[in-house]
Amino acid sequence: MPPPLPDYHVHTPYCGHARGEMRDYVAAAVEQGLPEMGFADHLPLFHLEDPTLAMPHEDLPRYVESVLKLRQSFPGLPLRLGIEADYVEEHVEDLAELLSRYDFDYVYGSVHFISGWGFDQARFKYEFERRDIDEVYEAYFRLVIDAAGTGLFDVMTHLDVVKKYGHRPRRDLTPIYHELGETLAAGGVAVELNSSGLRKPVGEIYPTRELLEVMHAHRVPITFGSDAHKPGDVGRDFDRLLELARAAGYREYVRLGRKERRTVPLPS
Ligand SMILES: [Zn+2]
Ligand SMILES: [Zn+2]
Repeated sequence: MPPPLPDYHVHTPYCGHARGEMRDYVAAAVEQGLPEMGFADHLPLFHLEDPTLAMPHEDLPRYVESVLKLRQSFPGLPLRLGIEADYVEEHVEDLAELLSRYDFDYVYGSVHFISGWGFDQARFKYEFERRDIDEVYEAYFRLVIDAAGTGLFDVMTHLDVVKKYGHRPRRDLTPIYHELGETLAAGGVAVELNSSGLRKPVGEIYPTRELLEVMHAHRVPITFGSDAHKPGDVGRDFDRLLELARAAGYREYVRLGRKERRTVPLPS
């Protein structure tokens, strides 16, 4: 059994690359005794149309309705309506407009594109070999800082997903980590400890301990997510997330819901 922490980062088949029925994800959370669960599927994209990456625009109302309906089938489990929204700088206004149409409990911000390069997709990872890795990291974190400053996101997810395929920076990133921590703290944006990196080539939690320690120094709040794309991954490796949170100095985390958050102690 995983520690009793909410899993706020669960996908659905609407995004075109997750398997299983939505109710099976919720059932998995109930089975494992998670205190809360939230869906945070991929919001439709504006800069490209790819039904294997994110739900098409016409599915967004259906996604929202499906989550609200499931709430009634699982009255014992607080089920949150979240969304994972890509930060793409040319489309910030479109994004703000789309988000304002729905009553999401929380909005996760993520960066999956560097000037159009979908760097976390296996089919485009060859591009890492052609670029200066330090410049890739710098560009990536610049985007995360910009995203955090928009005020559109409650939580930034997989904070250092740029490491997904195991490419490591050569430069010391401490200064940019601090700039990010300051921006997140100033905007009241939380960061997520995300276990999906353990299932990726890098084999590590997002974010790395060093980065999480900087977040802790800036008193940036934390949440937890599996980034499950199949029901069996709900709550996965949460014992390791808890261990990392403690190691980085955290004693508390936040519960999300209805645009409000509650700070609660980490379980022992
Ligand atoms: Zn993501
Ligand atoms: Zn995700």
